[in-house]
Amino acid sequence: MTSTSRNLDRGCDLLVVGSGAGGLSTAITARKAGLDVVVIEKEPWFGGTTAYSGGVLWIPGNRHASAHGVADTTEAARRYLRNEAGLFFDEAAVDTFLRVGPQMLDFFERETEVKFLPTLYPDYHPDVEGGVDIGRSVVAAPYDARRLGDDLARLRPPLKTITFIGMMFNSSNADLKHFFNATRSLKSAMYVARRLGSHLKDLLLYRRGVQITSGNALAARLAKSALDLGIPILTGTAAQALIEEDGRVLGVVARTADGDLRITARHGVVLASGGFSHDKARLREAYPHVAAGGEHLSPVPAGNTGDGGRLAETAGGRVEIRYPQPAAWMPVSRVPMGDGQSGVFPHLVDRYKPGIIGVLRDGRRFTNESNSYHDVGEAMIAACRGTPETAMWLICGHRTIRKYGLGFAKPAPVPLTPLIRNGYLVKGRTLAELAARAGIDGAQLEATVRRYDEHAAQGNDPEFGRGTTAFNRYLGDPAQTPNPCVAPVGDGPYYALKVVMGDLGTFDGIRTSVVGEVLKDGAPIPGLYAVGNDRASVMGGNYPGAGITLGPIMTFGFVTARHIAERARGRQRVGEPMSTS
Ligand SMILES: Cc1cc2nc3c(=O)[nH]c(=O)nc-3n(C[C@H](O)[C@H](O)[C@H](O)COP(=O)(O)OP(=O)(O)OC[C@H]3O[C@@H](n4cnc5c(N)ncnc54)[C@H](O)[C@@H]3O)c2cc1C
Repeated sequence: MTSTSRNLDRGCDLLVVGSGAGGLSTAITARKAGLDVVVIEKEPWFGGTTAYSGGVLWIPGNRHASAHGVADTTEAARRYLRNEAGLFFDEAAVDTFLRVGPQMLDFFERETEVKFLPTLYPDYHPDVEGGVDIGRSVVAAPYDARRLGDDLARLRPPLKTITFIGMMFNSSNADLKHFFNATRSLKSAMYVARRLGSHLKDLLLYRRGVQITSGNALAARLAKSALDLGIPILTGTAAQALIEEDGRVLGVVARTADGDLRITARHGVVLASGGFSHDKARLREAYPHVAAGGEHLSPVPAGNTGDGGRLAETAGGRVEIRYPQPAAWMPVSRVPMGDGQSGVFPHLVDRYKPGIIGVLRDGRRFTNESNSYHDVGEAMIAACRGTPETAMWLICGHRTIRKYGLGFAKPAPVPLTPLIRNGYLVKGRTLAELAARAGIDGAQLEATVRRYDEHAAQGNDPEFGRGTTAFNRYLGDPAQTPNPCVAPVGDGPYYALKVVMGDLGTFDGIRTSVVGEVLKDGAPIPGLYAVGNDRASVMGGNYPGAGITLGPIMTFGFVTARHIAERARGRQRVGEPMSTS
């Protein structure tokens, strides 16, 4: 300890490191079960990546789907996950997830401020046996963030690149549809004017949007629930070291602006620091394209530097790099934001739209662009293996970019010129000129577009089968017939946008038991637990559907907290065996 170190006077029953969905779902469940809980958060804001996210949870068998008459069974979901995870299928963990997921959702909706709405998302591989076309994903209900009172200032704002002057779009995509249609439909134009008007008023009054949606709403709802239960969320407080005695974890030493703080926890420490998206050393070990010297840009907050994994290792735990895909891949572009700053734009919606294709530097397409971000990312890494960079260029014609936008570039009437000037977009009158400016093989690009357009005019993509699954079509344009994902690139002028590899969070992580105990040589380390992306994903490095990180994260947060509370009720201190009653 340093000379400025002090103790958190009262200590606590349970200390949670990190204030995303993993940390807060654990903290709330434990508090409801009677434990005295403290949450510490390294950053000045609470919410972590969760506050940047779409706020979608994949929970097969959720009551929202049942209420809408969706027919699904636990057995089908289990079959789907078995097919998806292959060799990495963890039967005990998957069964716990499928059994407890709906209970977890009901618990939060019944007992806290956290509420959800149904979505129309298909599974990402609905044609795989056990997959469904609708019903397994729910999304956090929008929230009036003013309910946080003074703590609104500590809520992590949404990811800047996916807002429009700070305004959030709704994850259900209803909002986006109106914004895309605003120049063609009076109803949409009025909707957009109303949304913008009320947002501008909020900016004047609160200096941020307060009608929040998606993951920002989820983070706000979780934080409000925790704060209402009297759980302190100590922001600006970064866990630095574990306090251990005789092989038992009894608390942490945390760094604050006022010096080090020693926090003891009678029933354990839960690591919930959000994975290793910004741990450079771990990325070189885990990501093949980074090991080869390639670029990787993550929209995950910069504070997610793998601290939980490193703390676990000091106690004998292990971060295992073993999944074929160590992270949830997300193709991203770098957005110049002025003042020499740049932002990261996750390509969540444009790749699905008709008239937009993705090519490598050699001018060739390499995959079905309307597959999920994770699948396109995996294909991009495979296609670029052995080359110095992992990158693709999204290509489209003028009519398409004005209709749908491209990456950070918004549809008409928002002007494109600033983004051409600052180099975000490359423009060319012809494909040859575009290719020369973007550094792509021009002759091959012309051949690729010619071949693609020939079939696209009939809505076909014989090469990669775009638009052949319900998921492909979900984010296409339903007005484009016969195939919502396929139309010719068409006439110039043309635009190109460079896209590189990024992630939404890490899949590999700390090895734990099903209930979240950190393991050392196969046995639990007394008093040490991991949840959220600190813990290895139950999906085995796959991305089966919308919300497959947050669904398991909140479920296992609930499971871990109940396990700890059960131990505590048996009055066992850390390190004592569980009672058999
Ligand atoms: C743009 C985007 C969209 C996404 N959409 C979805 C979606 O809709 N559905 C889905 O399932 N997933 C989605 N994801 C992924 C999802 O957001 C993450 O998997 C999830 O939020 C991780 O939760 P977590 O609690 O593990 O970590 P986080 O939410 O990142 O929280 C971890 C917290 O720990 C803090 N911390 C780090 N180190 C320390 C330390 N030493 N001491 C104290 N605190 C520390 C961090 O500052 C952070 O606040 C998305 C991600 C992004 C970037």
